[in-house]
Formats: sequence, C-alpha cells, structure tokens
Amino acid sequence: MEKKRETLPTSRQVVMSGIRPTGFLHLGNYFGAIRNYVKMQDDFDCYFMVADLHSLTTHPDTKELKQNVHRVIAENIACGLDVDKAAFYCQSHVPETAELYLYLNMMAYKGELEKTTTFKDKVRLQPQNVNAGLLTYPVLQAADIILHRAKYVPVGKDQEQHLEMARTFANRFNHRYGDVLPEPIAFNYNQPLLKVPSLDGTGKMSKSENQNATLYLADEDEVIRKKVMKTKTDAGPVKQNSTKPDYIENIFELMHLVSREDVFKKFEEDYNSCTIRYGDMKKQLAEDMVTFIAPIRAKVNTILNDGNYLKEVMEKGAAKANASANATMKLVREAIGLKYY
Ligand code: ATP
Ligand code: MG
Repeated sequence: MEKKRETLPTSRQVVMSGIRPTGFLHLGNYFGAIRNYVKMQDDFDCYFMVADLHSLTTHPDTKELKQNVHRVIAENIACGLDVDKAAFYCQSHVPETAELYLYLNMMAYKGELEKTTTFKDKVRLQPQNVNAGLLTYPVLQAADIILHRAKYVPVGKDQEQHLEMARTFANRFNHRYGDVLPEPIAFNYNQPLLKVPSLDGTGKMSKSENQNATLYLADEDEVIRKKVMKTKTDAGPVKQNSTKPDYIENIFELMHLVSREDVFKKFEEDYNSCTIRYGDMKKQLAEDMVTFIAPIRAKVNTILNDGNYLKEVMEKGAAKANASANATMKLVREAIGLKYY
C-alpha cells in the first residue's frame, strides 16, 4: 500500500479522530491522540468523536456504555478539548455513518480485512465472538473519517494500518465514481506516530488490555506511585554509553513525556556514566506523573457531576457533525448514481 508523506497544511483543513468508550482513558490516549486534538482545534476544522459503535465489536454488553460515554466526554474536555472550537459528538448520533459504512464495504475486500493486524489480534483475544463488525472495523473507521471529508487524523501508532486502509477505500471509491473523497493521513505534526508503552513493556497502554500496566488519567496518586515503582529494572549498566534494554528504554520514554527536560537529561547522563539509581529515577517519574495526572482527574470529576452540561455538549456536537455528514452524503450518493429523478 502506498505511504503518503505528511506535509503541514497551508489553509484550514478538516481533521477527524475518535476514541472508543471502552474504559478509563490513559496516558497513551492523551499523548497519542488528545494532546494533538487540543493543539489542532485552533487551526483546523475539527471533528472529534466518542466511537460508541466501534466499542460494540468487542464490548457487546452495554451495561456500562452510558457511564463510559460520559467518562470519555468528561476526560477529553478535562484534557483541554474545547467544544466551542471542535465538533465533539457521539458516533451513534450521526446515522449517516452507517450508510457510508455500507457503501465503503463494497470497496473493501475480505482478504485484506482478514490480514489486518488488529483483526488478527482480536481473533486471538475473543475467539468466541469473531463477528463481521470486527472484520470490517477499518471500514467503519474509514466511514467516520470520510464522512467529514477529513484530511488529517491525529492518532497513535496502533492506528497506522487502519489509516492506510482508509486511504485505499477512498482511492477505490474515487476511481470507481469520480474524485469526491480526500485520502486521509495519520497526523502527528510531521513526527513519527506515538506508541506509549505499557509499564511492563509487553505492549501498549490500553483501555481494555494490559490494565495493570497502564496509567489511567483517573488513577489516584498512590496507585500511580505503586504502578511506577513496580516497573522492572536491573542492577544498572556496567559499560558506559551502552544500549538500554527495552524495559529501561520504556521508563525513559515515559519520563520524556511528563518530566522536565533537564530532569530527563540528568538520568540519561547517569545511565551513560553507569551511576544511575533506578529507585531515584522511578520516584522522580512517579511524582512527575502525579503532578501531570492529578489536576486532570479533579476536573473530570467536576464535569461528570453535571449531567445537563454533558447533554448540551452531545447535542451541540451532533448538530455540527450532522451538518457536515449531510453535505458529504449528498455528494457520495450522487457520485454513486443513487439519484433517479
Ligand atoms: P481499547 O483497548 O479499548 O482499544 P485503546 O486504549 O486502544 O482502547 P482507542 O479508543 O482504541 O484506545 O484509541 C483512541 C486513540 O488513542 C487512538 O488515536 C489510538 O491510536 C490512541 N492510543 C491508544 N493507545 C495508545 C498508546 N498506548 N500510545 C499512543 N496512542 C494510543
Ligand atoms: Mg484500541
């Protein structure tokens, strides 16, 4: 599949991204996605979404769905998402998503869907529920993006392959029916897409997997300290300037996200001169994590207590998203030829 090079936009372009309401948001969601939502909302036409339909592919039990939707909304806003600047809405409040998903399903082939990494992972994780929605997850995601004719999609590294597929589907549509759809690209201000590693180094931080090795924006101070202090280290390097083992590299990566540059550099120098004390490093990291997470956690709780505000946010977001979706669908239906009088 073709890899498109990312260039910084020159005029106001459309941006779209989403997060599933499958649990508590974590550092990976913040640094991989939300941090860029907040940066981009001033300069782009932004559509950010709570991807409730996507969550049904892996979380068919909906007992906690409402609570999780409210939480994702509150956590995004607490992180700085401004609902007056961006359209912030629930996926199921924009029914045109399902219609576009149907058309795009005709642009996607069974073989390529079966080869998708996330699909193969989910088949391993939930062999009892390999539903067609899971197989066509990248098609629904492409529909979410294309529905607003978005060009830039701020996401983490784990979504790179899905974005390549979205481009392929848009491209096939354009070849078949005329040049109607922009081809979206994953966006991180020309930097490589980010993957925030889990604390045990076995994968990425995640809402629904690796939960004990994930730092959540809702974690209490003591929980954060415990999780950080438990991370694996060793006796330290014996040779100057040696390569870091993965589990040590992860600790440095996390420190780079939340600690001051001079603090990070000091520990890097200690490592390179074989004088590093991992206990001290982890204590510092734990305190910097607490400083980062605690104010977000406090804001979330205030927002969650205001049901009327949450309703207003969802209504306002749905109105903006529906207007954009309707305009795209008119073009799409006409391009396909679904116009008989
Ligand atoms: P789930 O485990 O339910 O799939 P998740 O943590 O993977 O949850 P998603 O809702 O699938 O979160 O993804 C929301 C956004 O967060 C996406 O842009 C995704 O790329 C990003 N993201 C998720 N985890 C990480 C991570 N560890 N590092 C960087 N970005 C991440
Ligand atoms: Mg995910």
